[in-house]
Amino acid sequence: MASSKATEYRWFFPADTRDKVSAHFTAGEYRQKNKPNEPWPINMLLAEWLEKLRVAAGGPIRITSGYRSPAYNRKIGGASKSKHMLGCAVDITCTVMNTWALAQAAYKVGFRRIGISPGFVHLDTAEGEAMWIYDRGPKSRWRKQIIRGASNAEIMDISGQ
Ligand SMILES: [Zn+2]
Repeated sequence: MASSKATEYRWFFPADTRDKVSAHFTAGEYRQKNKPNEPWPINMLLAEWLEKLRVAAGGPIRITSGYRSPAYNRKIGGASKSKHMLGCAVDITCTVMNTWALAQAAYKVGFRRIGISPGFVHLDTAEGEAMWIYDRGPKSRWRKQIIRGASNAEIMDISGQ
């Protein structure tokens, strides 16, 4: 079973939002939306798998949330241990795939930590394997509901593919 090993990969600290991270993504796309002056880390395993996913999707993938500073993460109500603060997580949308198909494609390129909401897919390269569904909790905050009792491959029904 493959596992995510983000820590074996280096982090890239871009100098400019226009820096190319991979064929289809620039550094600015990974940056948090309130445009801080501080540098933002990009995990290179995340970048590698996201590029593979973009190629597999065959259409545009938009990063709706990439790196978040701890202060920004708090402000928008992110999880207290959000992987977005480590630069190894993205929330994405794709115009040519529904969220379920996008999650399946993400699994196939290597992602093992996958969160699915009606409007976006969360992917990160932290250690381990987990899948969850987001729903809206109190104050309309996203809440993680972990899917338990099966491997990601079983959940996605793509074992052996
Ligand atoms: Zn996320």
